[in-house]
Amino acid sequence: MHKGKTEVGKNKRGNKKGNKRGDEGGNKKENERGNKNRSENLKSLINECNFEPKKHWGQNFLMDKEVLADIVKTADLKKSDVVLEIGPGFGVLTKELAKKTSKVIAVEKDERLIKMLKRGLKGFKNVEIIHGDILKINIKNVIASEGAKRPSAAISDDNYNNTTGLLYPTSGRTRNDKMYYKVVANLPYYITSPVIRKFLEEKNPPKLMVLMVQKEVAERICAKPPKMSLLSVACQFYATPEIVRIVKKESFWPKPKVDSAIIKLKINNLQLATEFREQFFKIVKAGFSSPRKQLKNNLKRKLKLDEKTVEDWLFKNNIQPIQRSETLLVEDWINLTNSFPLSTPLQAPQ
Ligand code: SAH
Repeated sequence: MHKGKTEVGKNKRGNKKGNKRGDEGGNKKENERGNKNRSENLKSLINECNFEPKKHWGQNFLMDKEVLADIVKTADLKKSDVVLEIGPGFGVLTKELAKKTSKVIAVEKDERLIKMLKRGLKGFKNVEIIHGDILKINIKNVIASEGAKRPSAAISDDNYNNTTGLLYPTSGRTRNDKMYYKVVANLPYYITSPVIRKFLEEKNPPKLMVLMVQKEVAERICAKPPKMSLLSVACQFYATPEIVRIVKKESFWPKPKVDSAIIKLKINNLQLATEFREQFFKIVKAGFSSPRKQLKNNLKRKLKLDEKTVEDWLFKNNIQPIQRSETLLVEDWINLTNSFPLSTPLQAPQ
């Protein structure tokens, strides 16, 4: 995805600086009240090791077992799945993922948690803990080395032949030599946008992403006209996003100021030419360059086209020049890319 006005990091709710979840601090007593599904084990583990959460690393641990179960259910896990988890924390979600899949690769930035994770997940031989920053690691290398260790990871929808009913024995790789994996995470919110961008733009993207994000961000990702933004266009271009459920702030410790949501991003199987993608985002970004302006004026100015050319181009695609970018569907942007006046038409995605 591309940086722009819709950057996720901006928190409009007046949260404390450097704390995108806007924690209200670690008032455990207050947070514990009235939450029947709270994980007692995790609570005592946190108390025992005197763990001080780092707010600037988005450390809000999920305490609600029902929500945990909903994340796992949404991921629709198969015994053959390889899952990449971002920010495992104390490993509560990691354990549930490990029980249902062939491999979990968990990337955690906080060294203090690495020690605890290793201890807590000792019994789970199919969990690989990586100490690192998700934004810096090479996804392909991690998935390739870890996934390929387990041949069963190859058994996916992608290498299931509908005609013969046979599975392709491809030791961790799919038919077209791509690794098959899912991403599941209760995300550290300060990196929501770059994480989503990183995975959607991957040459080898995941099949599915199940993420806990801020409620407001979830709504922006899944928005419909007339509430589209650069973020929603990008997410809906690469994937089919859906809000699975809203999660109350009481489900976390420390309790954030804002509610969250579980979203599911089913990645579209796009066989895209790089030029098409570049052209598409060039036009979309031009369209959203000044949010309150008419589409015609934004395109004219940013793409350096004359008025008549822009109007003809828009009319040809059944778009009124006075419309605003927020009212366009991804389909409209694809049509505009295919009929861009100054270039040879590019091939649209299937
Ligand atoms: N999954 C756990 C923890 C969620 S809190 C749970 O649901 O309880 C977010 C986690 O992401 C924390 O463990 C934090 O240390 C980790 N984290 C923060 N920034 C990260 C980064 N850049 N790369 C990997 N992990 C990160």
